Amino acid sequence: MSPVPSLQSSVVVIGSANVDLVATTPRHPLPGETLIGTDFHEYPGGKGLNQAVASARAGARTVFICAVGDDDAGRFLHSIASGESLDLGGIHISPDEPTGRALIVVDDLGENSIIVVPGSNAACPPATNIGPSDVVLAQLEIPISAVTESFIAAREAGAMTILNPAPAAELSAELLSLCEIVIPNEHEIELLGGVSRLQEAGVKTVIVTKGAAGIDIYHEGVCEELPSFRVTPVDTTGAGDAFCGSLAASLAAGHELKDACLRALAGGALATTTHGAVPSLPSQDEIESLIAASS
Ligand code: ADP
Repeated sequence: MSPVPSLQSSVVVIGSANVDLVATTPRHPLPGETLIGTDFHEYPGGKGLNQAVASARAGARTVFICAVGDDDAGRFLHSIASGESLDLGGIHISPDEPTGRALIVVDDLGENSIIVVPGSNAACPPATNIGPSDVVLAQLEIPISAVTESFIAAREAGAMTILNPAPAAELSAELLSLCEIVIPNEHEIELLGGVSRLQEAGVKTVIVTKGAAGIDIYHEGVCEELPSFRVTPVDTTGAGDAFCGSLAASLAAGHELKDACLRALAGGALATTTHGAVPSLPSQDEIESLIAASS
């Protein structure tokens, strides 16, 4: 059934913006080892920017709150974000820190390993101007205090809060109690102490993403497993971000949780079929087409 869209709903993404430096190589280097790579690209990235772009491409009006440096990388990210019809009123220019960078290695199997250098992301301000039907989405590449303040403002406004706890970090009982939905991958949920710990802290819904194996949705005392869409992955960078951004956009559009998860699974799968993070994030049409082709 089609949802009843609310004209007032926005997705508010608060998070990191980085320049991703991506090297491809047959396999990952061991400690102390130098490998000859096969290719190199620079892409816009950062979990915040990726998820904001994923949300906008999935059809939601999207506000992006972040901090970039007063440098060429920051101007590059600003120009990319403007081209994605994001609301950029919340972009803070940090005078002291360079724009964040991520060093990414992708092997022949499409598996990645990543080092993030936060730089200006440490100055990311909290989201403040939040409406009651907004969906506020955050990750952990910015200070946890900014996420907590944003979620306090969101809950006061009556908005939905979604946390993608990546990269995994110790989360306070206060922050967990402010999260309506938490979306960890299998590695992150282990580091967070398991699903029941999150539920006991007050999280209503936990969605564990399992790569090609799909997702587990823990909601109202039930665990439901949904499979991934079958695709041929070339680079899994940005799959989790595509999932989170597509989910937030679908919930803001009024889709029920399970239907929103289906659309997010399509978004995540499509993101693995193209190299890079932002370049791989799918449009609403691509998401609809994959769902239609698979049903
Ligand atoms: P992360 O990128 O955060 O580690 P996952 O690897 O769990 O997260 O991927 C997030 C989502 O992206 C998955 O739940 C799934 O929807 C999609 N996805 C990732 N890898 C694949 C794959 N090989 N085939 C299909 N979908 C995938």
